[in-house]
Amino acid sequence: MHMHNQFTTNLLSLTDVIVEGVKHHEDFCEVFLSQPVRPHKCPRCGSVTSKIHDYRVQKIKDIPILNKPLILSYRKRRYKCKNCRKNFYETVSFVGRYQRMTPRLVEAIIDRLRTNFSMCSIAKDFGVSACTITRIFDYVSYKVTHLPEVLSIDEFKGTTEKGKYHCVLVDPVQSKVLDIIDKRSLDYLLKYFSKFKERQHVKYVVIDMWAPYKQAVKQAFPQARIVIDRFHYIRNCIWALDKVRKNVQQCLPYEKARFLKYSKRLLLSHPDNLSNDGKLRLANILLFDERIRLAYVLKEKFMDFVRSKDKNEAEKKLSQWLQMVNTYKINEFSYLAKTILNWKEEILNSFTVPYTNACIEGFNNKIKVIKRNAFGFRNFSRFRTRILHCCS
Ligand SMILES: [Zn+2]
Repeated sequence: MHMHNQFTTNLLSLTDVIVEGVKHHEDFCEVFLSQPVRPHKCPRCGSVTSKIHDYRVQKIKDIPILNKPLILSYRKRRYKCKNCRKNFYETVSFVGRYQRMTPRLVEAIIDRLRTNFSMCSIAKDFGVSACTITRIFDYVSYKVTHLPEVLSIDEFKGTTEKGKYHCVLVDPVQSKVLDIIDKRSLDYLLKYFSKFKERQHVKYVVIDMWAPYKQAVKQAFPQARIVIDRFHYIRNCIWALDKVRKNVQQCLPYEKARFLKYSKRLLLSHPDNLSNDGKLRLANILLFDERIRLAYVLKEKFMDFVRSKDKNEAEKKLSQWLQMVNTYKINEFSYLAKTILNWKEEILNSFTVPYTNACIEGFNNKIKVIKRNAFGFRNFSRFRTRILHCCS
């Protein structure tokens, strides 16, 4: 009997308790505990007593065991002081005085909240209510006090009441989300950045081509160089080519339009990544329509510029590309060229530093899952905390 108790105690990894029994209920497991009788000091007068007054059972939730929620039924003893007659509870190490959960259960829940699982599914796993999970989570908090030398800003679509887009502020060197900012308007960003004291110390800020970012960075971080994330200008070029395809497609008879639609991937991929069959089909498409052919050449020329090995080469290739756009007169690309010219300096800066917003893509995928599972996140601040908890 004693051996059995020792094993169970080890299994629970609690010290100084006596396991009096284990009961398997249908949907939870119950362990009956008490502590050995020890001399206790009276909290009122200080004299030592071992005289038992009575018992009370405290039910405490603990980390699930054998896939079932675990309840510790702790028979708590009250001692009686022989000197001043005061009754008092014995001291206990594994749970706070009025707590109904062990600290290690709270810790395990906070740790599980770093995953994408919804609050409801975590509640179910731990055998507690969703309200309890929310209450525990409300103790978690993240504050940014310090900005790194290199910053990245990107955005994602929100689900909460606070506007359409939220910004993600990232440290791209450490690959860490620093903060979620609820709006991306100039006023809001300036107000947000103004709370940091050492703004002089930010050297680079990587952004996409959203004008308020540029303005906010210029005002808030006068020492910083703005870098456009390469993924974003590559994407704009791919979009331009795809728009040409769609516009050409609309004017074609059904069969030809269908053929072009299913060739989308061939046009957008790098030609080296195509199979021989793919290359043949691509050649066919390029013979198909003059506008498609010119747009494709402009895309490939742009990708060649993107692969430049330094700023000098990039500058040369970009001006050649801009000249070609002028000659070819494809509207979708003329529009792209305007944007590129507006951001020329910042785009060329991307050839001088290795920083990109690539890591944000990974975070955005995590955020998407959190968003999908977050029926409960009407509240922006809770949504923000969950993202920071999962991504830092
Ligand atoms: Zn006393």
